[in-house]
Amino acid sequence: MQRLCLILFGSPGSGKGTQAKLLKQDLGVAHISTGDMLRERVASGDALGQRVAAMMQSGGLVPDEAVNRMVEDRTALDDCAKGFILDGYPRTVAQAAWLMGKLDADRVQTMVVHLEVDYNVIIARISGRRQCPVCGTLYNLASDASKVACDLDGARLEIRPDDREEVVLERLRAYERQTAPVLAFLRERGYPCWDVVGGQAPKLIARQIEGYIRKERGVAV
Ligand code: ADP
Repeated sequence: MQRLCLILFGSPGSGKGTQAKLLKQDLGVAHISTGDMLRERVASGDALGQRVAAMMQSGGLVPDEAVNRMVEDRTALDDCAKGFILDGYPRTVAQAAWLMGKLDADRVQTMVVHLEVDYNVIIARISGRRQCPVCGTLYNLASDASKVACDLDGARLEIRPDDREEVVLERLRAYERQTAPVLAFLRERGYPCWDVVGGQAPKLIARQIEGYIRKERGVAV
């Protein structure tokens, strides 16, 4: 079976991370979130982390070359042998052009899913989002308004610095400006791309995506 690369598109707060986690389990592939990887590097304070901390806080994008190298190293690890899901990457046409060159050369079968969610829903979701500063688990006040501490370690939940409303608006603008052309680029190149309505129950969405993949591969996934 050919190695699989599933590129998940969706603006901040569209549920990309949730889908990636469900699909990872069902498909037995790795989940690669460049946002999570970059936050880990910032927390560890290594050279890359120090270089990108301010860019991330302001809602801007990290330079292509740094993110490409990080993804290249990550996809070489053992848990990517069957395939991987890319969440939050590629975000620019330059990243997409570099990635597709590499995946085609490695004979990886690439497919694209675009989660579409109304912006008003997204802003409401993100403004209710709280994160544990210790383990990174995300909660949402929309599903539990009284939640103040993490279930896992009891730490007091915080608003992620880049979830503040003015930063969210800048992230949505950056998404529009830079990511929409990436989707157009992948469509033009002929990779299978599916638009999925992202407001439904997460498991229903995952089942729908798995159905698309199965059809494209012509076998059980
Ligand atoms: P969300 O999924 O909520 O949009 P992420 O967690 O994916 O946010 O990303 C957080 C920040 O990390 C981005 O605002 C950006 O600064 C940086 N980042 C993540 N992925 C990329 C990428 N592919 N290219 C450039 N910057 C990135």
